Amino acid sequence: MRILRSIAEINELDRNKSIGLVPTMGFFHEGHLQLMRAARKSNDTVVVSLFVNPTQFGPKEDFGSYPRDEARDANMAGSVGVDFLFVPSVAEIYPRTTTAIVPSGAALRWEGERRPGHFEGVATVVCKLFNIVKPDVAYFGLKDFQQCAVIRQMVEDLNIPVVLQFEDTVREPDGLAMSSRNVYLSGIERSTASHLYAELNKVALESAGKGRNEVERAISNSTAALTELGFQVDYLEVVDRLTLEPSSPKASSCHVIAAVWLGKTRLIDNLQIHD
Ligand code: AMP
Repeated sequence: MRILRSIAEINELDRNKSIGLVPTMGFFHEGHLQLMRAARKSNDTVVVSLFVNPTQFGPKEDFGSYPRDEARDANMAGSVGVDFLFVPSVAEIYPRTTTAIVPSGAALRWEGERRPGHFEGVATVVCKLFNIVKPDVAYFGLKDFQQCAVIRQMVEDLNIPVVLQFEDTVREPDGLAMSSRNVYLSGIERSTASHLYAELNKVALESAGKGRNEVERAISNSTAALTELGFQVDYLEVVDRLTLEPSSPKASSCHVIAAVWLGKTRLIDNLQIHD
């Protein structure tokens, strides 16, 4: 595996071969590796980008303390057959910041509302990575469910010639969704954290096939249970899969989505609701 740091080096990739791109912020875990393996299976060349994107962090968020370990990441990416790890500097990606993509629609609520500018940063960097790497297929994890909807919407709205592939959320044995940020959890918080997945399952089960009244009852029961356990619930909702608007499984194809605080750590997760 080769580490590339400049756009000039990326420009030398063989364009006669199919390219799969996995955009990441590093500190790899099994969720990242699953995306890399999926890319390895169906492309001649696999490029993984490792870029902690400053523009998607708010001023009070964890850009400075976000976990970073390039040597460990390079070993892990190499072990699953990645060809190129693209590790650009901030100056390489943002020699200036005079143009940005401002997503609307699926970006407006939830993460978009609580983290102003977040999806603008995500959409802009993902669009730049698409234009730099020019992948045939790009891989994203459904762990970041709203992000998937925002990127799908951007690709459709701007006619970006890339195929998107979304992969299921990889979880720890107790159900906690893997995340680079899980290292922030204390021992006690880590064992409490699995209750989030349990409550998402409860909401999904109690909402399946139901209308808004039953959905709201399930949400309020699980919000109370999580609060009792020490979580601070940022949002817990049942939303339409594509628009991210509150909905009910009776009306459309839905996911239950949540963001919670456990101490100083913010966790997000979601689950598809089966009929
Ligand atoms: P990140 O490095 O956190 O920005 O994540 C890079 C990619 O990996 C994104 O597409 C994420 O949605 C995906 N990802 C992160 N955690 C998981 C997980 N537990 N399961 C599946 N995909 C994940």
